[in-house]
Amino acid sequence: MRILITNDDGIYSPGIAALAKVASRFGEVIVVAPDVEQSSMGHAVTHSRPLSLKKSPITFEGIEAFRVNGTPADCVALGTHLYAKTDVILSGINMGPNLGNSMWHSGTLAAAKQAVLLGIKGIALSTPVGKTEPDFDKLDPFVEEALNLLLERPGLSLFNVNFPPDPQGVKWTRQSVRLYDGYIVPGMDPMGRKHYWFTVSPLEPADEGTDRWAVENNFVSITPLRLDLTNHDELRNIQKEMDEKIDDQVKAAPASS
Ligand code: MN
Repeated sequence: MRILITNDDGIYSPGIAALAKVASRFGEVIVVAPDVEQSSMGHAVTHSRPLSLKKSPITFEGIEAFRVNGTPADCVALGTHLYAKTDVILSGINMGPNLGNSMWHSGTLAAAKQAVLLGIKGIALSTPVGKTEPDFDKLDPFVEEALNLLLERPGLSLFNVNFPPDPQGVKWTRQSVRLYDGYIVPGMDPMGRKHYWFTVSPLEPADEGTDRWAVENNFVSITPLRLDLTNHDELRNIQKEMDEKIDDQVKAAPASS
């Protein structure tokens, strides 16, 4: 199995090294990751300038690694172009959770989405960061278990995996779709000029069975995702309304002689 690893925290993140270590037990691994942090860049792609690829000066225990001056989605496009027959893209392990609505902003998940757009399985992996860095040695067996569950699954698929700091097991979950409380926090820079931070707080509590609920209860959360954003219920309702309108018009029209 040929495994391409990327992330959105940049190639120097300890999370990508931890993922490469586990992934190398499953097949041939290469790393193609952004040269600087690209968190919350979502599914941006670079289209107005060329991309460059440089060999990484840091080692991943014998794994070839390259850094790209682009986004996570760029790394997947470039990586799969240069390394044909990639079987799966793994993205992470992100330093910070990607649960519920944060999926919309996530560069980590965008890399996995880009894989699926290119016809390759994509798996995003994330873990929360507290006051200390994540204990990746503790997560190691759970990362291996998640990859065991997902890598051999047939078909083209997209998965979002989140690890709590101290996992007690694995849950299959759905995305938490509660709206978040997003707001701007104003501040002052050292020159006395105003600046602004955008921040979000998830609305409590998380519904049982969701990704947020699982991680809050110390379970590894695995959510199968799809790229179809269509609101199928709404589409059905609208189509029904349109059909009824046409029926009414037909009924109201004078009978032709
Ligand atoms: Mn990140």
